[in-house]
Amino acid sequence: MVMSNAQKRVFSIKIPRAIGYLFTLFILSLGTALFFTYEQANSLETNSQTLSNQLMDKQEELKTLQSKYQTLLTNANQTKQKIDKLVTLQQEMNQLVTDDNQSQKGMGGDSLNIQQLNFSSDEQSEKSEKVEDLQTIQQSISTLVNEYKETVSELKSVQKELARLPSIWPTSAREITSQFGGRSDPFTKSISHHKGLDIAGPYRTEIYATADGRVNEARRNGGYGNFISIKHSSEYTTQYAHLDEIFVEPGEKVKKGDKIGAMGTTGRSTGVHLHYEILVNGEHVNPLPYVLVEH
Ligand SMILES: [Zn+2]
Repeated sequence: MVMSNAQKRVFSIKIPRAIGYLFTLFILSLGTALFFTYEQANSLETNSQTLSNQLMDKQEELKTLQSKYQTLLTNANQTKQKIDKLVTLQQEMNQLVTDDNQSQKGMGGDSLNIQQLNFSSDEQSEKSEKVEDLQTIQQSISTLVNEYKETVSELKSVQKELARLPSIWPTSAREITSQFGGRSDPFTKSISHHKGLDIAGPYRTEIYATADGRVNEARRNGGYGNFISIKHSSEYTTQYAHLDEIFVEPGEKVKKGDKIGAMGTTGRSTGVHLHYEILVNGEHVNPLPYVLVEH
């Protein structure tokens, strides 16, 4: 009886314990399942949020692109208006030109492929009308461009001529000690013709080529001392005398502003100075009016 009772009691205790374990296991499984479901839901929500954000970004991008496209269209229209104005101007200019052939010159130059421009118009006829308009404009532009090219080439040749014209101050020193023309000779005290301009400055002050050209002479030359002669064109030559040092050689090409020597007192000279000469067609002229630009 006791055994049976004891067994019965043990049995009755064992069952609830097993249930307890099972229940705990069930709760744990449920918890885990709920946790994972929650995590999954969370991650799905995050994904969905990301996708939604990406979609919004794409929409923003699309808006930006649309606005850019709109701006481009507006610009194209504005450019067309500007071209129209140019064409009107061109027509007015043509009327001013008496020679008809002149106005025809330069047609069909560099070709802009206007047919390839894509305009947003849905109307095909409107589009082809625009293309025709643009073709007319294109031809006018070619004429204008050619006329501008001529002007630019004229300007370039003027620029080249200017580069070969002695036009800058030949040294960084500024003190004129003897003008061009009649003067009392510092050695003989008699009146003589001074063929250049004397500019005094510190010993070894830099001397510059006053125009583009080619060095004709660079040597010791009697009373001139260390002497440089530069031929700029068939018309112009410049000469620099009494130099302490010569930095160039005969035959060398020089540019306006290049350092060609250092100021000194070589030859027939009473002190450190530059004797600067300009010759036009072989005749000495007063250099002062030629100094248009300070170096
Ligand atoms: Zn002199």
